[in-house]
Amino acid sequence: MGLQVIRNATCTFCGCVCDDIELHHDAVRIHEAKKACVLGTAWFLNHTAEKKHPAALIDGREATLDDAIETAATLLHEADMPLVYGMSNTTCEAQKECIAMADRLGGLLDSHTSL
Ligand code: SF4
Repeated sequence: MGLQVIRNATCTFCGCVCDDIELHHDAVRIHEAKKACVLGTAWFLNHTAEKKHPAALIDGREATLDDAIETAATLLHEADMPLVYGMSNTTCEAQKECIAMADRLGGLLDSHTSL
């Protein structure tokens, strides 16, 4: 089976939000990302539909998603100054949820761009 093509895909890796990427993919992975820079190409080509990792970890050990959420909520609730950080590889919807969580926690919000 040949590769399918998605034209005008958006790369959200660095913040430039290039929206003219041409992705060549099969059912599992992206094989080519035309017009993407080296960072965007690496980002697209390293995402797959394969399940490579467990759904959740607690202290490096496999855990259920419910247990991981409970543990994360406890840690965040007990933190003096929680930092919600990163979000470079997340969707706009997930970033919105991160902002709402930082507001609710009275914590700090920062992205990888501060590096
Ligand atoms: S293709 Fe490169 S420059 Fe464009 S958004 Fe992705 S990482 Fe940034």
